[in-house]
Amino acid sequence: MKLVFATNNRHKLEEIRDILGDRFEIVSLSQIGCHEDIPEDHETLQENALQKARFVKERYGYDCFADDTGLEIEVLENRPGVYSARYAGPAKCSEDNVRKVLKEMEGKTNRKAQFRTVIALVMNGKEYCFEGKVLGEILTEQQGTAGFGYDPIFRPSGFTESFAQMEMKQKNGISHRGRAVEKLTEFLNKTVKDF
Ligand code: IMP
Repeated sequence: MKLVFATNNRHKLEEIRDILGDRFEIVSLSQIGCHEDIPEDHETLQENALQKARFVKERYGYDCFADDTGLEIEVLENRPGVYSARYAGPAKCSEDNVRKVLKEMEGKTNRKAQFRTVIALVMNGKEYCFEGKVLGEILTEQQGTAGFGYDPIFRPSGFTESFAQMEMKQKNGISHRGRAVEKLTEFLNKTVKDF
């Protein structure tokens, strides 16, 4: 089955293809000729994910899913949250975002945080949302070089490594996006005929 995933993020595409396996052909935005910056200007992850999926359906005609993820840090009142991508400014630079979080977390003893992903699916004229979360803590310095975004400063609960020190398979098995994709897959398994 073919589905557009509203992203051009190489890491996310690899992760999702790894989770979904060969049963789905996941097509990126550039593969459908979409090279524009899709707006995501709402105040919640769910609204942003829906906005992106609807945009692709309306302009390009494809059934589509889109995700939006936020890192929610308890002591920072859930910031950066929906602003995670552009936390340090409109350039959306991951290194700057990580540095800004580390700076704000200096001296803080409560380091609890969670990653939360919402996936919105627009399919056969209907809309669905799936949420995945992973609890963990913010490290005091970067550890590891794998992954992307805030991975080097996030250690999931019950583990000694940061996300950036894990193999992709291990991260996907416990991650926010992995869990949201599991729910998406379960739904597709139940819903889509001949799948
Ligand atoms: P987006 O909504 O997926 O674009 O993510 C928003 C921000 O969160 C971006 O800065 C990403 O780098 C970051 N982010 C999303 N997913 C992850 C992840 O799995 N690990 C670390 N950072 C992530």
